[in-house]
Amino acid sequence: GRFREYNTEAPQETSIKQLLSLEHKTAIVSGSGAGIGLQVVHAFAEAGANVAIWYHGNKEALDRAAEIEKKYGVKCKAYQTDVTDYENVKQVINDITKEFNGRLDIFVANAGIPWTDGGMIDGPLTSYHKVVATDLDSVFYSAKAAGEIFRRQYESGASLTGATMENYSYGSFIATASMSGHIANIPQLQSAYNAAKAGVRHLCQSLAVEWVKFARANSVSPGYIATEISNFVPPETKAIWRSKIPMGREGEAHELKGAYLYLASDASSYTTGTDILVDGGYCAV
Ligand code: NDP
Repeated sequence: GRFREYNTEAPQETSIKQLLSLEHKTAIVSGSGAGIGLQVVHAFAEAGANVAIWYHGNKEALDRAAEIEKKYGVKCKAYQTDVTDYENVKQVINDITKEFNGRLDIFVANAGIPWTDGGMIDGPLTSYHKVVATDLDSVFYSAKAAGEIFRRQYESGASLTGATMENYSYGSFIATASMSGHIANIPQLQSAYNAAKAGVRHLCQSLAVEWVKFARANSVSPGYIATEISNFVPPETKAIWRSKIPMGREGEAHELKGAYLYLASDASSYTTGTDILVDGGYCAV
């Protein structure tokens, strides 16, 4: 390989089709057997990427991977991973990198759990630790393991292979934060989750600076999206949320596709250290 100096030149202008293409790239998306993560996998596969799905308990992920391979003609495999276990995360990332042509271009840290246990005073400390481990520590672990590969690719020049805009095809790290990392949303029993998600945003902002030579890092903050994770929320609370959303409805998981595709692709070549809110205007009022 060849070592390049830190490149500060702007990329050549290219077509929109090229900008949004993920051809020849390898992506990993955690928590992607269903919900938002699965829609992100669809978006990346349709844009031409080979994608690894990460699931924890939901074995239907294996069927989803087979369907995606068939539908888009890309490589898609599902891996069982516990994102709260650093050694496991590192091992699976390394296995995937070997199995997917030795490359890793995009990592989406999307796995997460809600806080369901009675709030700060009445909730057990064990629940707090579980939420922080799954929603924040996991992002740090994934970033640590994926970042090592992004840096190695930069140092060896491997990130030039198959790139559409060769100077800019560094790694792209994206984490799923939440509008709850921007505001203290009701129900007002979410302090642990909210703090973890605010931490996710700032972790990505910090990584953007720490990694600027070899990778970009950003987060996406969904608002109220109709998926499994919000099933614990009582209908009265959902009605209050809905009434507070300027667009007057919850979002569908597929409406997140654009934000992730933008951040994963060369369309966002000059975007790092930022967060994209996709919340129907919730945080705008
Ligand atoms: P889902 O519950 O469908 O997705 C959460 C995913 O996290 C599941 O696929 C689950 O895997 C995975 N997961 C949980 N614990 C672990 C673990 N220890 N190791 C590995 N994977 C794990 O809901 P969403 O799609 O809505 O959630 C995706 C992300 O979006 C989360 O980070 C969530 O906090 C965030 N978010 C969601 C919002 C919403 O309104 N829906 C709003 C704002 C943010 P498995 O099912 O295989 O066990």
